[in-house]
Amino acid sequence: MAQKKGRVFSGARPTGKQHLGNYLGAIKNYVALQDEYDCVYSIVDLHALTTLETTRDLKQNCLEMALDWLAAGIDPQKSIVFVQSHVPQVTELHTILSMVTPLGKLTDLPTFKEKIRDHPNNVNYGLVGYPVLMSADITLYKADLVPVGIDQAPHIEFTRETVRSFNYRFNTNVLIEPQMKVTQFPKIMGIDGVNKMSKSLNNEIEISATAEETQKRVLSMVTDPNRQRRTDPGNPDICNVFALHKIFSAAEQVENINTECRRAGIGCVDCKKMLAQNINANLAGLRERRTELAAHPQDVLDVLADGDKRARVIAEATMQEVRRAVDFLE
Ligand code: ADP
Repeated sequence: MAQKKGRVFSGARPTGKQHLGNYLGAIKNYVALQDEYDCVYSIVDLHALTTLETTRDLKQNCLEMALDWLAAGIDPQKSIVFVQSHVPQVTELHTILSMVTPLGKLTDLPTFKEKIRDHPNNVNYGLVGYPVLMSADITLYKADLVPVGIDQAPHIEFTRETVRSFNYRFNTNVLIEPQMKVTQFPKIMGIDGVNKMSKSLNNEIEISATAEETQKRVLSMVTDPNRQRRTDPGNPDICNVFALHKIFSAAEQVENINTECRRAGIGCVDCKKMLAQNINANLAGLRERRTELAAHPQDVLDVLADGDKRARVIAEATMQEVRRAVDFLE
């Protein structure tokens, strides 16, 4: 087998089914990097606890995420797919990294401020420490590259700084500074057209939705707000439906919509129906594979159990180096 270029790590919180933002912004790269890199993909259930009010659906959501990932093309023969909490070394590294993290740096992060806005009644200690746990995830597996959406840029920069602090403080080079890798579509907007697509904002289109559900969501998308009537010309440059057409539709159709929308030759409803059709056609294979996989849940659990085992080997090797660097009594 050819020598791989290095290690990739990424994770996502099992808070529900994956949506087009996750798929286009992250999962596409998870799949694309598998041949060139040694990839580790984590269902980060501990991270999910920071905002969950109940863990009622946690187990099911871990399975749903694994199904989405495997159906999208993550191959467990090539990549490690595992559940974060099954490799407890991450919590040990999180505690150690928290000692080299100034608290003010965490509370200043824009992502923390957003989380406070979204969850004002649940600003827990874990929420503040989220980026430290994420740094532990990435560095535990000595990742060179982290495929994520652009919203994660502050966390990757934070991880790089944390690595420098740790290595400096303990006079070592055990931890590695990761690079971020974004896809061609680093920020997908939600159906509201103003916020990034996100489960917590209820503006998402799930990749595993049925064709009918997809059409319903697409039909509710906000378009150019200045276009009030069918006879008004629209502006595709500020329309999120058009933004998704550019991703899912053939070049000729995109060009046609671009021209016709500007002279009111096509209405928003027809434009949306075409988009829904193209999204459904694009995801048909994934959805079919997902249905097949979902019929054999034990096979998915076996994939995760095997991933846990392989991840633990890497994690324990790193922790032995970390413990030595810190100079704990052996
Ligand atoms: P987490 O809270 O773990 O970031 P998310 O489900 O929000 O979980 O994100 C999982 C991955 O999908 C991350 O890499 C994130 O950057 C990416 N992502 C999420 N939403 C979008 C979006 N709207 N556009 C592009 N990428 C996104």
